[in-house]
Amino acid sequence: RRLASQRIEVINDAKVEEVRPDAVVISDGRTIPTRTTIWAAGIEPPPLVGNLDLQKDHRGRILIDQYLRVKGRPGVYAVGDCTSIQYDGPPVPALAQAAEQEGKRAASNLAAEIENKVPVPFRYRSVGQLVDLGEGSALVDILGVNLSGLLGAYVWKAVYLYELGYDLNRAHVLADWTIDLFTRPDTSKLFEDPNQPRVRT
Ligand SMILES: Cc1cc2nc3c(=O)[nH]c(=O)nc-3n(C[C@H](O)[C@H](O)[C@H](O)COP(=O)(O)OP(=O)(O)OC[C@H]3O[C@@H](n4cnc5c(N)ncnc54)[C@H](O)[C@@H]3O)c2cc1C
Repeated sequence: RRLASQRIEVINDAKVEEVRPDAVVISDGRTIPTRTTIWAAGIEPPPLVGNLDLQKDHRGRILIDQYLRVKGRPGVYAVGDCTSIQYDGPPVPALAQAAEQEGKRAASNLAAEIENKVPVPFRYRSVGQLVDLGEGSALVDILGVNLSGLLGAYVWKAVYLYELGYDLNRAHVLADWTIDLFTRPDTSKLFEDPNQPRVRT
């Protein structure tokens, strides 16, 4: 509702077929007139991974098995965005929480391998999602609990600070947020500035 009030439309299940100077054509047949187009469609592995002589998927990510071992390379483990796991569990998104879970499991499996113990298969468990909407508003879905608006923004900030891990980083970010309150305008307020031209996405 909030996005709609800011004239933002989220289009699911559609691919961009063509980006023209004045329009974007999408696969459901629509042509959306545009003036500024911002492309934010994902990531690809870095050249280092591209140059590795390993089995990869169609997106160039390293294939790993359920124990996070690189396929065809005994004793080698890989985790994170540059990997593609082949297992019967839920899809593993390119998110920090997935990379962290994989890192812990890979470390314990590597230790198990060294100690001749049985490795444990990896299984991704989503602990939720947080979406910052700017202007003191966020969407929160943590362990099935959904929050939005200002309360969501507070939870978003609390989780963000917690996940930073180190007190020095937390202090930096807190200081940044405090300074931002009094100095830089929040760029996400662009949509509500009546003096700005109307923005269409
Ligand atoms: C703009 C942006 C916003 C994001 N927001 C979120 C979010 O809100 N929540 C969330 O869960 N996830 C978010 N992600 C995704 C998250 O950052 C990644 O999923 C996560 O960092 C993956 O961890 P990783 O260890 O696989 O890779 P990275 O964290 O990318 O670590 C890879 C490291 O390898 C280093 N490296 C690369 N090449 C070499 C080399 N040749 N030699 C040595 N080192 C090298 C890089 O410098 C980097 O430090 C975001 C990603 C982006 C790009």
